[in-house]
Amino acid sequence: MKKLISIYPGTFDPVTNGHIDIIERAAGLFDSVIVTIALNKNKKPLFSEEERKDMLINVTSQLKNVEIDCFSGLLVKYAESKNANVIIRGLRALSDFEYEFQMSLTNRKLNPGINTVFLMPNEKYTYLNSSLVRELASYNANVKEFLPDYVLDKLKKKFSSDK
Ligand code: ADP
Repeated sequence: MKKLISIYPGTFDPVTNGHIDIIERAAGLFDSVIVTIALNKNKKPLFSEEERKDMLINVTSQLKNVEIDCFSGLLVKYAESKNANVIIRGLRALSDFEYEFQMSLTNRKLNPGINTVFLMPNEKYTYLNSSLVRELASYNANVKEFLPDYVLDKLKKKFSSDK
């Protein structure tokens, strides 16, 4: 049987419990999951590529079929280079749908052999995103329930070193 190699692209600035929920579901469905950090020159992330990679490695270390990588450029080209046949995206609310629908059909046009699979997280994470967490943390609000301890610690240090 053909191996199901999936890639889960995102900014992961930083990885949240919502992302981890999706990664765990994907790890249970596919032979392998490559979580890949999209390096987008137009975005100014809070965490560097190395920091985001380090956090992802740390929080997925118990999942043996998950690896962490980075890419820039066209997602479909990257997927082809990894022999991936599935792109994973998380769907939280209707507001995600329009953009994701357009992206997924565009990617399928570029390579009909690669399908996008949408996974929904536990409902408690449906309102959660990395920018909300960054903003709350910048005001010193408690974001403990949204992040693994390792990431929480890095985020706290990031804002305390700004002072
Ligand atoms: P991007 O810039 O690609 O949106 P993100 O890191 O914000 O990068 O998100 C990566 C993927 O993870 C997207 O498919 C997004 O919908 C999904 N995602 C983000 N936060 C959550 C969450 N709380 N629950 C489920 N999926 C999520």
